[in-house]
Amino acid sequence: MMSGTRVQSLEEACDAFVSWLDRRVVAAGRGDGLDRLEGAPSGTFWLGRLACEEEVRKGANDERSERLDPCAIGIRLRPAEAAPWSMTVTVRTRAWVRDPKEAGPDPDRRWWRTGLGEEEIPIVGGADGGTFGAKQLRDAFAAVGAPGLTAEVRVEVEDWHKETELVVQLVNTSPEKASGLTDSHIYETELQLVGLATRPFQLEALPDSFRYDRNVPAYGINVGIEVLAPGMFRTTDTVTMQTHRPDYWNSDHPQPDLSFDTLANDPIPALAALLSALAEYDDEHWSPPALDVRQMSDNWTPQMRAEADKSAVEVFAERDRLRAGLDLLRTQPEIRRAFQLMNKAIARSAKGRGYSTWRPFQVGFLLSAIRCLAEPDAEADYVDTVWFATGGGKTETYLGLLLTAAFFDRLTGKRTGVTAWSRFPLRLLSLQQTQRFADALGGAELVRTEECIKGAPFSLGFLVGQAGTPNKIVPKPERDDEITPDSPGMPEKYRVLLHCPFCRDENLRMKFDRQRWKLEHHCTNPACPWGRRALPMYIVDQEVFRFLPTVVVGTLDKAASIALQQAMRGLIGPPQKICSVEWHGFTYATRSKSPNGCLVPGCQGTLKALPMPEERFGPSLRLQDELHLLRDSLGAVDSHYESLLDDLQNNLCGSHTKIIASSATLTGYERQIDVLYQRKGRVFPQPGPRTGESFWTVRKTNRLRRFVAVAPRGVTLEHVSDRTLDALQRCVRELVEEPSRVCTEAGIDPAHVYELISLYGTDVVYGSTLYDVEAAGRSLGSNNTVNGINIEQLTGQTDFDEVRDILERLEKPEDKFEDRIHVIAASSMLSHGVDVDRLNTMVMLGLPLTTAEFIQTTARVGRRYPGLVYVLHKIGRERDAQTFRHFDKYVSQGDRFVDAIPITRRSRRVLALTIPGVVAARTLMIREPASKQRLSTPAMLRQYARDSGLTPAEEAAAVASILGLDGPEDSLHQEQIVEWVRDWFADLEDPTSTARYIGDLGNPSPMRSLRDVEAQAPIHD
Ligand SMILES: [Zn+2]
Ligand SMILES: [Zn+2]
Repeated sequence: MMSGTRVQSLEEACDAFVSWLDRRVVAAGRGDGLDRLEGAPSGTFWLGRLACEEEVRKGANDERSERLDPCAIGIRLRPAEAAPWSMTVTVRTRAWVRDPKEAGPDPDRRWWRTGLGEEEIPIVGGADGGTFGAKQLRDAFAAVGAPGLTAEVRVEVEDWHKETELVVQLVNTSPEKASGLTDSHIYETELQLVGLATRPFQLEALPDSFRYDRNVPAYGINVGIEVLAPGMFRTTDTVTMQTHRPDYWNSDHPQPDLSFDTLANDPIPALAALLSALAEYDDEHWSPPALDVRQMSDNWTPQMRAEADKSAVEVFAERDRLRAGLDLLRTQPEIRRAFQLMNKAIARSAKGRGYSTWRPFQVGFLLSAIRCLAEPDAEADYVDTVWFATGGGKTETYLGLLLTAAFFDRLTGKRTGVTAWSRFPLRLLSLQQTQRFADALGGAELVRTEECIKGAPFSLGFLVGQAGTPNKIVPKPERDDEITPDSPGMPEKYRVLLHCPFCRDENLRMKFDRQRWKLEHHCTNPACPWGRRALPMYIVDQEVFRFLPTVVVGTLDKAASIALQQAMRGLIGPPQKICSVEWHGFTYATRSKSPNGCLVPGCQGTLKALPMPEERFGPSLRLQDELHLLRDSLGAVDSHYESLLDDLQNNLCGSHTKIIASSATLTGYERQIDVLYQRKGRVFPQPGPRTGESFWTVRKTNRLRRFVAVAPRGVTLEHVSDRTLDALQRCVRELVEEPSRVCTEAGIDPAHVYELISLYGTDVVYGSTLYDVEAAGRSLGSNNTVNGINIEQLTGQTDFDEVRDILERLEKPEDKFEDRIHVIAASSMLSHGVDVDRLNTMVMLGLPLTTAEFIQTTARVGRRYPGLVYVLHKIGRERDAQTFRHFDKYVSQGDRFVDAIPITRRSRRVLALTIPGVVAARTLMIREPASKQRLSTPAMLRQYARDSGLTPAEEAAAVASILGLDGPEDSLHQEQIVEWVRDWFADLEDPTSTARYIGDLGNPSPMRSLRDVEAQAPIHD
């Protein structure tokens, strides 16, 4: 630590504080440092303890209950030589003893902790194993004041494996009950072993295992194993895995200047330097001679070599794509200008936020994707997936591409309309994420004005489920859920932006403008470059349709509206006309409420022609965030709606939109893309030659997160979670109250106290289910030893405005520590787009269902400063027990543990739900505009069907073809479609039908949300 006059950095102080926190939590779990206790130690401690064998055997006597309250800890090894084996085992342990009633020195705290027993036990074992040290340990317990306790070291030889394995265990052999014995548990146990030559285990082979170090020196039994020196092993109560912050340049060449300013001025030289460094790296690591060398040195099997060869092909293809991107920038002036303007805009929106340059991989992605501007049709065949296992900056990368496309659109005559529709898979879209989109577009808009680029201002639309913002605002409500300008909470309740995208001022004012019929954000800063106008942000669905903002961000489930809402046309193709009244915007098909097609209630305007050719209205990009969440039924439903969107856009504009996705996992993405989008998958960046290392990233020494695996013993998971949070809160309060003592103890420069209190004063407790989260919140409130812990919940159930308030409190904590949020109890809602640098400690209640969720959730802490994550294993569950066993590999090679994504588009149950939407959307989006009349009622549609000669067979064939279910193997699906369409026709033709609107025809009605199907329910073909 501090030496001489060198000043400790904040980063170093954080490291030291995290180590101290972890020592304190582990101590709380083991009972270290205590001398007396009021309640029973067996109901208090969760680490280091061992129940007695007799009790465990008498219990359920299965592996599961043994894990929950084990009687042994041990080390599993592979001896390098044959029997006999000799080694020295050191056992450390203590006991707790209860004084007789009122006889002890402290009648309120009758339990006392004995001194440490430490015994060196020499072991010489043959092929039969044996038991050792029983007498020595019995005497040791007696010597520290706990007579009657016994333990032994047991050596078992397992030679039915491919190679012989030795299991060396410390077993608590005490009697369950004996006179004078007050607790048959032993505590603070530890086993150390030296003197045995061993060979490592090999972690089971998995695809492309050539990337990974598969050696495991030893396995722990109910514990972790630390290798102190070669051949020297020690058990640990928790398994700790430290990860390190990546660096984004891995080449001997100097990193080219990829600052926004440089790329705005003259992008080519820096990009060429980037590509030549990449080329050199790829040759060095992926050329056949390079792979030959590794095959030799790492003992690759032919299968591993084949995997490596396959990866090399992908790597070189990626390099070619980047080169092609650079050529386009060189040769196509409009693309280059759009790219430069984008950089100028990003430079603006990043100003004052501490970054002014791209990371190389972000630029790599932009180069690889830019071809979609030059050859949209050819490129639309591929879905480009950005894979972010190791680095942040995903949203910024998206935004780079998105702004380039937006500028390119304006430069090539698309004066208005949607450039990109960006979808997030959750019900509630993160406000922080939305804000970043708004900021980028704000920067772009300022650049657009400066450069006198023609067209509508760049703007942002927010299209989410009704839980977020209104679908429309009506003058008089006809139903309870309709919102009027005078509804409670209007307009302030619907504020979406956290600050002004142009000047960052946080004093925004919401206003409903009755004249323009708009729900507006206004900046109150008199010096704002945007001036006094409403900010270019549309949060009401109908305003999104009226103004067709440049970028629409929203939740995935909104795609369902395509079958319900004719004005959704603006998101895939042209609206009908534009209203003559200023600020009324685009118009659509006429309805009784909008007799002239204008969506503003009571509009008296006339209709004008569209300002640009119809085919230019189709968006160039559809973005899908968190692709890996599109699985099971949600994925199946979405796959049908994606096909529908594609077909409609093709019909209306003759164009195909490019799809860009991001994903935390790579396993099986090709198949997932094929199922979801009926396109080919491509991923960027290609994984590197070794885990955690590629041209784009390399590990640095700076600490990222300390993962601590905990297998609770003998007490409930809730108890452990409460006690862990309690210890974390106690520690930070000690820092508040006794800073100098804590600084000395933890080795911290007192200059950093204020920051540390802020950075480690709010803990996250994370549960995969709402039930877990709510239980955690309740139980902590009643089970803590520290007073005044303020708990808030962040789940899918948390109200929109409450989420906003909580985020604001986290970003800008109250001055006094006691007023702040101390614990956030969160569900997966937290994992998506909540980026708060102050969240640095987390307690996870059991492993999440998927590894992707684990990766993503834990990435919420330690974003800028060293993080600390306790993963409490539900150790009774087989999967948790397996993961605990190789926790370090699980963390370091997590991407390899990511399970393939279960998804199909051939579910007939899902098809039954989606056919109605496809048919309804075709009526709204294609038949109605083609008919030049209203087709909103069955009578009108019936007439149209007759006049146009529409037949059930034709419609069914069209539906099957749209959904990609027209092959010979899909005959059952085709029959299902034919039947449904036939019934729909019968309904249509039935003069006695009670259907009022076309959506009432057929059964069921079109889905109102893609979430109408239970997202995680497994489905089959
Ligand atoms: Zn402003
Ligand atoms: Zn109008």
